[in-house]
Amino acid sequence: MARTSRYLRTKSGRRYKILLILSLIAAVLAVIGAAIAVDVARRIPDGVLRAYFIDVGQGDASVILWNGGCVVIDAGTEASAERLSIYLRKLGVSKIDCAVFTHPHSDHIGGGDNILADFVVKSVVMPDCPYEGESYSELLYYIEKEGCSIYMATPGDEYSFGDVIMTVLGPCTEYGDENDMSAVVKVTYGDIDFMYTGDAESDAEYDIINYWGVDILDVEVLKVGHHGSYTSTTEEFLAATTPEFAIISCGRQNEYGHPHSKTLARLEKAGASVYRTDEDGTIIIETDGVDVWRCVKGFLGRLHRADNKK
Ligand SMILES: [Zn+2]
Repeated sequence: MARTSRYLRTKSGRRYKILLILSLIAAVLAVIGAAIAVDVARRIPDGVLRAYFIDVGQGDASVILWNGGCVVIDAGTEASAERLSIYLRKLGVSKIDCAVFTHPHSDHIGGGDNILADFVVKSVVMPDCPYEGESYSELLYYIEKEGCSIYMATPGDEYSFGDVIMTVLGPCTEYGDENDMSAVVKVTYGDIDFMYTGDAESDAEYDIINYWGVDILDVEVLKVGHHGSYTSTTEEFLAATTPEFAIISCGRQNEYGHPHSKTLARLEKAGASVYRTDEDGTIIIETDGVDVWRCVKGFLGRLHRADNKK
């Protein structure tokens, strides 16, 4: 009995030492990891822009970073809110020049209140879209509490952040459906254009084509509308936007069946390289304003030149 006790004591003592050593190793790795994360943010050199399509499960959250600036477009779900704030901090973000909340659904603004509480957000752009919802009420509460400047998404409005220009393309009219009310924006850096469509569906897409004509809508990178639902990303919209890269933000094995096989077929026919957060995790696109590079799976992934750059 005594021997067993000693044995247990000795074993638990060893366990304690092993746990202590493992904890120390974990602490050292965490410090190194944090240092690398900060370093990565600082290493965004002049003349480079990085667009992150963050894996927030079944929702949307995008961040655009360049040396000295940050724009956030949508803030994921309530479930991903804390992870999103941690991710932004790891990227070295403290101030956000502009947060675009495309529409009031909780899979786009669920983490909006956290973003407003955790970071200095200079301005907010969102559509004039009345909506009853807890996440939306929280968002409006924090916008007022933090004293952010708020701008209604109006087509033709242009926001300039140094060399980065954001143009509001839609909504072009009022819709009864919140998805179609999505603020659609184009972010331009040099010759490279990114389009973020929120959950805009076919009616909104057709109106954007009619309002703008095809020249303005030609982009290199398209954040595909409504998580790849077949009700968005029409052939006509793809003919107008001609994206080289199409990003679909959706959850693994989501209950909606996003992305739809019809959407994937249309994207393939249009010749776009498709990346999906459910399969690829967080997707990063980097550009110097002339060429586009791509990187998938997290910010420590390797950046390399894309094969089909323009
Ligand atoms: Zn959505």
